[in-house]
Amino acid sequence: MSDLALGRLADLTDSHLPCYLYDLGVLREHAAAVRAALPDGVELYYAAKANPEPQLLAALRDAVDGYEVSSGGELAHVRQAVPDRPLAFGGPGKTPAEIAEALRIGVHRWHVESEHELRQLAARATGPVDVLLRANLAVHSDALDGVALAMGGRPTSFGLDPDRIADCLRLLAEPGFELLRLRGIHAHLASGLDAEDQLTVAEQIVDWSVDLAARHGLPITEVNVGGGMAVDYADPTARFDWTAFGTGLAKLLARHPGLTLRIEPGRALTAYCGWYATEVLDVKQSHGEDFAIVRGGTHHLRTPATRGHSQPFTVLPVTGWPHPWPRPAVGTGRATLSGQLCTPKDVLAQQAPVDRLRAGDRVLFAMAGAYAWNISHHEFLMHPRPDFHFLG
Ligand SMILES: *Cc1c(COP(=O)(O)O)cnc(C)c1O
Repeated sequence: MSDLALGRLADLTDSHLPCYLYDLGVLREHAAAVRAALPDGVELYYAAKANPEPQLLAALRDAVDGYEVSSGGELAHVRQAVPDRPLAFGGPGKTPAEIAEALRIGVHRWHVESEHELRQLAARATGPVDVLLRANLAVHSDALDGVALAMGGRPTSFGLDPDRIADCLRLLAEPGFELLRLRGIHAHLASGLDAEDQLTVAEQIVDWSVDLAARHGLPITEVNVGGGMAVDYADPTARFDWTAFGTGLAKLLARHPGLTLRIEPGRALTAYCGWYATEVLDVKQSHGEDFAIVRGGTHHLRTPATRGHSQPFTVLPVTGWPHPWPRPAVGTGRATLSGQLCTPKDVLAQQAPVDRLRAGDRVLFAMAGAYAWNISHHEFLMHPRPDFHFLG
């Protein structure tokens, strides 16, 4: 846990809880280690949707080659937070206004999701546009337990089926499409893969792309193999094996000289630099189980509700109890940590083991730096917003 975050928390009174604490030094250090593990020929983009706080975007600046944005809102926001950095613009259902605006400000790479999008782009472009076609490929990976996982290749709103890609290639050769420069293929097929499975997937995407280029006689020089690097919420000390991943990508590049690979992780970059700090308001026994109700809840930190996990946390004991009556406390050695919302889904941790947990104690939820505040339903129940502290 970050000393800076703990230090700041110690200075805060209960009325300043809950709050988010970010340690930007932790983020910079982690991102630099990720960058260092990747070989030349691999570009690292940050998927802004994981956490678009301007301070985080700026802290990542030196470690990343660019940012992946998936809406007009993200495009404008990231452009302002880190001006002049390369942007890759993806996402299904781009509106005419978003397309016009992205063409106006200029993006480094355009991830095209459909034939209709390609046609709109060609119709509106007034200068060169560098395009990657997003492919919905079926790839297979033998997970460690021997079960073969199939990813992509299923009905989704994302990307183009392989035969549609061939249609797009024909389209790109037609008059009127001269301003669109096909740079390569983009595929973001799964999330939560460990390094071994990520490499298997990357290899299949690259092989498919290189084969496609050869069959059509095209100069495809870039393959973006997406994000989705695993983050293990059950073990806050575990990290995706970036070293093994980088070594594997180097081998893949050695087989394809001249190819540029790009990856665009979100969660695995920013998850570890954020904490959500709060206090226990009450402890109750309900039909044999202990419930600790914290100030705040999943309307601030929706991550555990969306993923169905227990958010890892640390208890910071607070001595002293200002009331003449007994202090409510967990008695069973396990507690469900829930928030203030009037819904049984407002659970941050389910029957988690706790040595001691009492009303008035503080709780520091870890791994709250990605898909946390920005995916939460803040307005539900009209509780106050948390404070934000950007440290380091
Ligand atoms: C969400 C997303 C990412 C990032 O995924 P993580 O699981 O956060 O690494 C990358 N690329 C695309 C196209 C995405 O939609």
